[in-house]
Order: sequence, then structure tokens, then C-alpha cells
Amino acid sequence: MKRSIITLVVLCLTLHLSAQVKKVKHIVLIGCDGFGAYAVPDAKMPNLKKLMETGSWSLKARCVLPSSSAVNWATMLMGSGPTEHGYTEWNSKVPEIPSAVITKYGLYPSIFSVIRDQKPNAITAAIYSWPGIGPLIEQKAITIVVPGNDNDDFCVDTTVSIIKREKPLFTFIHLDQPDGVGHAIGHRTPAYYDTLQNVDTRIGKIVQAVKDAGIADETIIIVTADHGGINKGHGGKSLDEVQIPWVINGPGIKKDHEINDFIITYDTAATIAWIFGLKMPQSWRGKAVDDCFIN
Ligand SMILES: [Zn+2]
Repeated sequence: MKRSIITLVVLCLTLHLSAQVKKVKHIVLIGCDGFGAYAVPDAKMPNLKKLMETGSWSLKARCVLPSSSAVNWATMLMGSGPTEHGYTEWNSKVPEIPSAVITKYGLYPSIFSVIRDQKPNAITAAIYSWPGIGPLIEQKAITIVVPGNDNDDFCVDTTVSIIKREKPLFTFIHLDQPDGVGHAIGHRTPAYYDTLQNVDTRIGKIVQAVKDAGIADETIIIVTADHGGINKGHGGKSLDEVQIPWVINGPGIKKDHEINDFIITYDTAATIAWIFGLKMPQSWRGKAVDDCFIN
């Protein structure tokens, strides 16, 4: 009898673990504002391209409409679209449509509250350059929140030290470039490609921090964007505005692999939850990207 109970417990643990990607103890999500997928092939981004060559990637992932910032950052982190979470505009600070569900942290459920509720002791961190991210994240569910006041380099330096010191289970960093140059000078311009080199240097610093922290073999890094852009803006329906890069690298991830799954930005939160073996809120609409994991 006792043995059968032990067997049952072991079986249950095994089943539970089957939803997790083995060995993954950390995820770092790097979000680059206004980084259109169209720019990747011609961009001089050796660090990003190394993540692609040694990981999996899609340049056909899509944002939700409108192809604007707040609505899409909310969507990426909240596993759902604007109809569910209610943030619909470029600078939404409160949902224009009442959120369909509200957690005890006061907002629509995001990956942060999913982690907090199911792994209460986990360290999580959110570092964001654009102040507009602040109202979109469940600050009470996050261990470390650092507003970066439009300073990407400060955000990167802060993230590097947090990764090395705290080794968070989940780290989200928002970078304001290349969106700023996209608005000021324009997409598909030499200046836009120049600033992508700076974005790449910042990505490289974060990758190096993961190595320096000694956690590279147990960390998945995801690089994506809220939307792309066209001319000096975004918000519309062209593929330059709608298609975003989605790159994933780390243990259990296929190498040098173009992902065949179609990805919408709300799949990012769902994929993170799935990697950690966490139950997703019923209201979420994202699903884990499947075609990047080694079976
Ligand atoms: Zn944006």
C-alpha cells in the first residue's frame, strides 16, 4: 500500500515536470521597442544573430492591432489580446475596456502574477526604459521593479547587475530603441540600422551577464518587440509595422532553427509559463510556441 502511494506521488511529480523544460531555472525576456522583423536580415546584429544561429527564431511573428506600444506590451506580458486585457492604445495607462479578469494585484493577470502565485518565493524583475510600461505591470507581484527613465544604457547596466546579483527566475527588460530613431528619423533608414547596432550591443551585454552569473546552461533568453514601423510611425496594418522578431535561445531549444509555428505576441507569456510548468489563467489566449523545443 505504502509503496503504491509512493509510486503515485512519483508519477504525479513526473507528470507535473513533463510540462516543464528540463534544467531551465531562469528566463530573460528582452523587448526592443519598435524593432521590425523586416530589419533583421540586413541589420548588423552579431549578438542577436548568434542567438538565432544557436537557437530558434521567427521573423513572421505578429503583434496585435493597433501596432502600437502599450497595447502590445500588455499583450506580450498578459498572454491575451486587447479585448481581454482592455489596453487598446499606444499610451494606455488604464484599460479603455474594463479588464475581463482582475487579480489581487489589481490588474489583468500577467506572467508576473502567474509566477508569484505559483512560485511565491521566486525572484522576478522588470526593468523598463519607457515610463509607459509602469502602469501595465503588476508591480506588487514583482520582486524588483526599476523604471529606467528613457535611458536604455541605464536599463542594461541595471539588468546586468540584477542578473549577476539576484539570478531572478524571470527578468523582463524593455529597451526604448530602435523606436525612438524610428519616430525621429524613420524606419528603413541608415540611422535606424545604425541604432540597431547599439541595440545589439545591449543584447550582447545581457547575454554576457547571464554567462558571468554562471547560469547560461540553465537560462532561456527570448528577444522580441512590441511592433515594427513604417516611415516615421506605426499603429497601422502594414507587415513592416505588424511583423516582429521572435528569437529564443537556451537549454532544450532547437539550434539554427526557423520556427514554423505562427506566433502572436500573446504567445510569449504563454511560452514562458509553459517552460516553467505553470498553469495559465483561463482567460489567457496565448499558447506555448511548440516548434522551438527539442522533444
Ligand atoms: Zn512601441
